Amino acid sequence: MRYISTRGQAPALSFEEVVLTGMASDGGLYVPETIPPLGHDELAAMAGLSYAEIAFRVMQPYVNGEIDDDTFRGIVEEAYATFSHDAVVPLNQLDANHFLLELFHGPTLAFKDVALQLLGRILDHFLKKRGERAVIMGATSGDTGSAAIEGCRHCDNLDIFILHPHNRVSEVQRRQMTSVLADNVFNVAIEGNFDDAQAMVKASFADQGFLEGTRLVAVNSINWARIMAQVVYYVASAVALGAPHRAVSFCVPSANFGNVFAGYIAKRMGLPVEQFIIATNANDILHRTLCDNDFSKQELKATLAPSMDIVVSSNFERLLFEAYGRDGEAVRALLERFQHEPTALAEAPLATLRESFASHSVDDATILEVIREAHHRTQEILDPHTATGYRAAERARADATTPMITLATAHPAKFAEAVVKAGFPGVPLPPHMDDLLEREERYAVLPAELSAVQKFVAENRR
Ligand SMILES: *Cc1c(COP(=O)(O)O)cnc(C)c1O
Repeated sequence: MRYISTRGQAPALSFEEVVLTGMASDGGLYVPETIPPLGHDELAAMAGLSYAEIAFRVMQPYVNGEIDDDTFRGIVEEAYATFSHDAVVPLNQLDANHFLLELFHGPTLAFKDVALQLLGRILDHFLKKRGERAVIMGATSGDTGSAAIEGCRHCDNLDIFILHPHNRVSEVQRRQMTSVLADNVFNVAIEGNFDDAQAMVKASFADQGFLEGTRLVAVNSINWARIMAQVVYYVASAVALGAPHRAVSFCVPSANFGNVFAGYIAKRMGLPVEQFIIATNANDILHRTLCDNDFSKQELKATLAPSMDIVVSSNFERLLFEAYGRDGEAVRALLERFQHEPTALAEAPLATLRESFASHSVDDATILEVIREAHHRTQEILDPHTATGYRAAERARADATTPMITLATAHPAKFAEAVVKAGFPGVPLPPHMDDLLEREERYAVLPAELSAVQKFVAENRR
């Protein structure tokens, strides 16, 4: 198994190289050269297996023997032992034929833990084998930073530096990052906004001289291993509801398109999926593209579902590559045009996308209405991201007889603002986190200056 770039110009890489590399040198994203099949019998044999065992079986072809089976099994088991529910990602039946897939039982209460608990351990394994150390740098406005920190805190060969905008993330989100006091974890509050922090991380990747040869690794959702880890819960939940003997549909609260792209890969492997519904908040580029063929950037809107506030969906490029028949040149031309002007997809690829994906966009007022309505009907309090999915699933589903699985991407306690606005007194943090607001914190405050940030990273890395 080799990995190739969506823009067709970068060299093909092994799994190990692709995990350590992130973005391709031609500006594209890596995808597997072939999609390994998951046959009817293999799927049927997964019924009743543990999540970790299903995860091992689904991911093994992508790892391609580059980690030996016993070691990889151990890594997978360790990663998912950090989840607080025995089922790791339990299904919760909401109403007739509509299920929530609860992806928020990991250490930071959002679905990004599923991928990052695994990615940190895989990176650490490869670095140890090579006798190397690496530095991770990332900017966060919330979920990704804390999930990356939790995924790396036990990794001997990694130092992680996460930049967040000073006083502009919620207290729960800040404390989830800054109360991790491990020696290899460095939180930096930047006196600026998220874009300032992001720009400094990008500039550091572009010119890594300040690290004097130490490898800089990205853990954002363009890293293939994150997609690979997310394929697993599509398979596990579908099998729990009767696949391969019966098809299911999924509704996915979406932003950078990493999550729903993983579902698409599961379907290409052989999982019987009738429909994918893409739910967006008011930042609706995916919905506009599918619905009106309006593939254009619009100004960022701050919504009640902040982890879905994006202008561009970075992983959409991977789906475009498939829709354009894996023509890297066509993808490159389209995305270069998109950088500068509103654009549109060609007819044939658009038609292909519309066969597999429906979409629906949900504004803030509707998010609040859905939280109230879902509680009234089911007694569940949904987080605002999951609420977009709940509404989209109801509005866009093609067939009520096929089980609908809506991905619950965060625990409601993490997004108390929306829950309180919807008229509820709030949701308590789960028991293992109920002292979060008393825990000791550690972070540096730095000006929004590249030289100051790079000096801090260079001096503190071990
Ligand atoms: C990151 C995130 C999303 C969006 O996922 P993508 O893979 O970027 O589409 C949705 N909900 C929550 C809670 C998130 O943290």
